[in-house]
Amino acid sequence: MTRTYAIIGDPIDHSLSPALHNASFAFLGLDCTYIAYRVPKGELDASIADLKKIGIAGFNVTIPHKVDMMKLLDETDEQCKIVGATNTVVNTDGRLKGYNTDVEGFLDPIRKRNIDCKGTDVLVIGAGGAARAIVAGFAKEKVRKITITNRTQENAEKIVKFAKQLGVESEYVDLAQAGDIAPSFKFVVNATSVGLKGSGLPISTKNITKDSIVYDIVYMPVETQLIEQSKEHGATIIYGWEMLLAQAMKSFEIWIGRPAPYEAMKLTLLGRF
Ligand code: NAP
Repeated sequence: MTRTYAIIGDPIDHSLSPALHNASFAFLGLDCTYIAYRVPKGELDASIADLKKIGIAGFNVTIPHKVDMMKLLDETDEQCKIVGATNTVVNTDGRLKGYNTDVEGFLDPIRKRNIDCKGTDVLVIGAGGAARAIVAGFAKEKVRKITITNRTQENAEKIVKFAKQLGVESEYVDLAQAGDIAPSFKFVVNATSVGLKGSGLPISTKNITKDSIVYDIVYMPVETQLIEQSKEHGATIIYGWEMLLAQAMKSFEIWIGRPAPYEAMKLTLLGRF
């Protein structure tokens, strides 16, 4: 019988996950399919009941359900518990187990470059769900200090508190000053949606140097303004698509129990941009 997977969220029509997973299923000759299922806020409980009824094998969870989904799980992995959010669920006879592949998905491109984060100072721009996974990732890699900057200070303070709970030194800086102090950090990570579809710069790049590692998790376009300008300063660049691909590969491996086909997924992803 065909095994069906899905991504739930709202909006969902722009999601690249169906293309990525369906390409992998086809490449490996698996009798599986992956659909996008729009679930508006307030309709999560009923939609999960429906997914169980159709015997969904597993699903990804995206905005706005990553946190709310936690209370509908029967079991969670360690990363879910730490971040307080899930993006990958396995359904075994109606029992749901949640995973969080965003943390490892974020770290994967750093590890591939053999960059050591231990004892370093990092700047995270943003204070949403992605920023939480990134802070958990940096904490796992034992960075010395995580500085958070964000449009809304109140949201940033929550992430500062979260980092401290994970045992990492942390502080808030004002968004207007973050660009000035960029040289103090080994990593500058954009975890806001600024840059999406050419929507500008999250911080000033004037002080980015060749020693900076600029990681922009926005993946549409591939070359955001932050990446373009940071490249001009000679910085090391990590692209948003690399995280997207890594977290999708990890979801695939949880569901299917075998390695995801990297090249097939990468070709599919980059072909879409
Ligand atoms: P989220 O929870 O909605 O958080 C959005 C963040 O962006 C908040 O910090 C918000 O600041 C900030 N922001 C939004 N509009 C802004 C504006 N006009 N000016 C300044 N700041 C603004 O979203 P998320 O899940 O964290 O995702 C953030 C981005 O990362 C999205 O673009 C998403 O597509 C991308 N993402 C990529 C990957 C990947 O695999 N590459 C994975 C996850 C997410 P306030 O607190 O002030 O509202």
